[in-house]
Amino acid sequence: MCVFCKIIAGEIPSKKAYEDEDVLAIYDINPQAPVHIVFMPKEHLLTCADDIRPENAEIIGKIFAAISKVAKDLGLKDGYRIINNCGAAAGQTVMHIHFHLLAGKADMSERMV
Ligand code: AMP
Ligand code: ZN
Repeated sequence: MCVFCKIIAGEIPSKKAYEDEDVLAIYDINPQAPVHIVFMPKEHLLTCADDIRPENAEIIGKIFAAISKVAKDLGLKDGYRIINNCGAAAGQTVMHIHFHLLAGKADMSERMV
């Protein structure tokens, strides 16, 4: 089982930022910005954005709707960045598709993950 599946199963503790039937968002254990939350589908379906196909539209749409809701709830009115690392060479370490929400750095043009 991957580390995110263990978190979803409750085998590894996490600080939840959002949860519904299909989506979980947790605060990153090694934050790269003042706000750093990772959004994932509860089902281990895809590895990264490169795997997304039209039939995955519903779950991907739900993840992005959750990102938008959390950003609004946290008052991220100055903007935020969403990152998907696709592949080990791009820095991906957990092979369960997820999107990083990063915010709160003064210089948002700087690469953060
Ligand atoms: P990536 O490098 O894009 O695959 O992102 C994986 C992210 O998961 C990294 O930013 C890690 O810091 C984060 N991470 C790994 N294990 C945990 C954990 N147990 N709880 C919270 N975040 C984690
Ligand atoms: Zn998984």
